[in-house]
Amino acid sequence: MTARPAGPGVSADASGPPRRLTRQRRVLIAALRAARRYLTARELHRRLLSKQARIGLATVYRTLDVLRHSGEVSTRLEPDGQVSYLLCRRGHHHHAVCTNCGRVDDVPCRTMPAYAKLLGHDLRFHVTGHQVEFYGLCARCS
Ligand SMILES: [Zn+2]
Ligand SMILES: [Zn+2]
Ligand SMILES: [Zn+2]
Repeated sequence: MTARPAGPGVSADASGPPRRLTRQRRVLIAALRAARRYLTARELHRRLLSKQARIGLATVYRTLDVLRHSGEVSTRLEPDGQVSYLLCRRGHHHHAVCTNCGRVDDVPCRTMPAYAKLLGHDLRFHVTGHQVEFYGLCARCS
C-alpha cells in the first residue's frame, strides 16, 4: 500500500471507496466521541491500541488531518506545542471546558451577538468574529 497525501477523501469514488480508511475513520471518530476531550494524536493512538484497534500512528495523524479539513474535529495548540483534537459539531458554537477532567461540552452562541453590537456602538469596533471558551467544573466534577 502506497502512502498518499491526505486529501478531502471525497473524490475518486469510481475506483471504489477506500474501505479500510473508512473503517479506521469510524473507529477513530468513536474513540474521539467517547473521550469528549482534546486529545493529541499520540493520546488517541494509545486509546485505540488499548481497544485492540489495529491502526498506525501515521494513519491516526492522516485521518485527523482529513477530519480537520472536513470540519469534523477542531484543534487546539497545547502549551508544549503539540496539536490536540476534539470531535466537534459543525457550525459556530463555544466550549465549556472542565479544568478537572478535561471534558468539553458544546455550548450554543447566545449572548455574543449582543456584545458585538455593544462593541460596534461603544468603540466603533467592527467585530468580524470571536472565539470563547468557558472554564470551570463539569457536572461530574463539581
Ligand atoms: Zn465543539
Ligand atoms: Zn470534569
Ligand atoms: Zn459565538
